[in-house]
Amino acid sequence: MLPNLSEAVATSRQAIAKTESYDLIVIGAGITGAGIARESARLGWKTLLLEQGDLASGTSNFSSKMVHGGLRYLIQGNWRLTREAAQARESLLQRWPDLVKPLPYYYLQNERSLITRFKLTAGLWLYHTLAAAEDAHRPRYLSPAALAEHFPALSFPTGTAASRYYDAICDDSALVLRTLQEAVNYGAQLSHYASVSELLTEGDRIAGVTVRLDQSQYTLPAKMVINATGVWADQFTSLPANLRLRPLRGSHLLFAAADLPLPAALTLQHPEDGRVVFCYPWAGGSVLGTTDLDHLADKCQPTQMSQEEQNYLLALLPQLGLKRSIKPIACWSGLRPVLAEQGDSQAPSQASREHLIWQQPGLVNITGGKLTTFASMAEEALAMAEQQGNLPPRSPQADTPLRPDKPSQAACPAGPLDAEALRYWSGAGAIERLSDLLLRRTRQGLILGRQLEPLQSQIEQLCQPLAWSSARWQQEWAHYWREFEHNHGCHDSLDASAKRSA
Ligand SMILES: Cc1cc2nc3c(=O)[nH]c(=O)nc-3n(C[C@H](O)[C@H](O)[C@H](O)COP(=O)(O)OP(=O)(O)OC[C@H]3O[C@@H](n4cnc5c(N)ncnc54)[C@H](O)[C@@H]3O)c2cc1C
Repeated sequence: MLPNLSEAVATSRQAIAKTESYDLIVIGAGITGAGIARESARLGWKTLLLEQGDLASGTSNFSSKMVHGGLRYLIQGNWRLTREAAQARESLLQRWPDLVKPLPYYYLQNERSLITRFKLTAGLWLYHTLAAAEDAHRPRYLSPAALAEHFPALSFPTGTAASRYYDAICDDSALVLRTLQEAVNYGAQLSHYASVSELLTEGDRIAGVTVRLDQSQYTLPAKMVINATGVWADQFTSLPANLRLRPLRGSHLLFAAADLPLPAALTLQHPEDGRVVFCYPWAGGSVLGTTDLDHLADKCQPTQMSQEEQNYLLALLPQLGLKRSIKPIACWSGLRPVLAEQGDSQAPSQASREHLIWQQPGLVNITGGKLTTFASMAEEALAMAEQQGNLPPRSPQADTPLRPDKPSQAACPAGPLDAEALRYWSGAGAIERLSDLLLRRTRQGLILGRQLEPLQSQIEQLCQPLAWSSARWQQEWAHYWREFEHNHGCHDSLDASAKRSA
């Protein structure tokens, strides 16, 4: 059975108010912090995880949601990262089959380009072999006729063939939530809407944190602190010499499946710059993404997709041969914590996606990396923390993956208003704001977009466990739409195909 996150947060907050002390405090409830908290609690250390916003409200909510080896890293010659990520993908597929699903990808190419075909065939075989993936998923070439059979609703330019390979897809927020549920199961405490304002120092070492929660401030001692705040990891301490965090923004568009029906993923090369962009089924809709550019705005403000990014992605639609012009339902933009040397001006898509771990007495910092490789990143960060010698000896519990009793408890169900899921998560999902429920515990807000507007009273009925007054509902509803518009509202522009015919 999955633990109830509402109860876990309530108990943890009581402990915080008593200013209990901890073996380890982890800052940041994205996938990196969640993975560290889970492993730390499993190893027997008294662990507290603190998150300033909602659970999984940072980059881990705005990724492409692929659990993948990163074909791109192979193309860049980074075999080690590809092998590590591809093996992590295989292990996640086995651990949580309800959350991480294999997905066929069709890499589009022109049938006359024999060099491309040769290079892709060799690369995909290597990709398959490095992952030690199952035989049924070995790569295959498809002629234009065979490709057309797989995508009957699309009409590709004449001569478009494909190479098929397999990767996996998940819901990033769901991955964080399940990891947190496992952390709680091993005894971890956690609180969201709890912002760490300062690190405590004792002589030359970090000895805990100061946290703001419910308009109070608490000082919590800890033997070790791990800073897993992603793109914001430089807020407490600077990076090792000559390195800086370079926030790269990536944006995605979400379409209704009826407008863009996809039985599998497409790997496309953008006509403007040759970058690889994916178009894939997710949460009952179809996603097109991602862009990849330097984020020059304030990274502490919510991230928005620009008009140029939207136009860039929409310019791909003509390659799919849709019969009519379509409009996205929603979009999202995330910031990738990429490490760069001072003065480095490498193209965003060429910049390394490796993670970085650095330390000082009492503190380990970790940033960068991938959703897919979170488990090995957690082990690495904890090994460094343990080496400092402050933590008690390990007393590990067996590593037991948790699975839900009912599909509605699998985080983030798709499709139209899912009554059971809304009921379950409104009671057990540690909901503080309506947007926590509609945008991150379930994806109802994304997949329904503006169609959610007339459903307010139905949602109120289903979410009775929240026990909100009608004034609170009005307030939450208004807040929800502000957040939706800001983080997920698309620009009001014609799509590329419509522009051309206008
Ligand atoms: C566009 C895009 C697409 C991507 N696609 C993929 C993909 O398909 N597959 C893949 O494997 N990887 C992908 N990635 C990479 C992956 O999403 C990230 O590496 C990963 O989500 C980072 O997780 P994190 O926990 O380190 O950071 P975050 O998820 O950002 O978590 C950090 C958390 O720290 C919190 N925080 C910050 N300051 C404080 C404070 N003072 N007190 C308390 N909490 C604080 C933040 O609120 C945040 O929730 C993608 C990234 C981007 C941007």
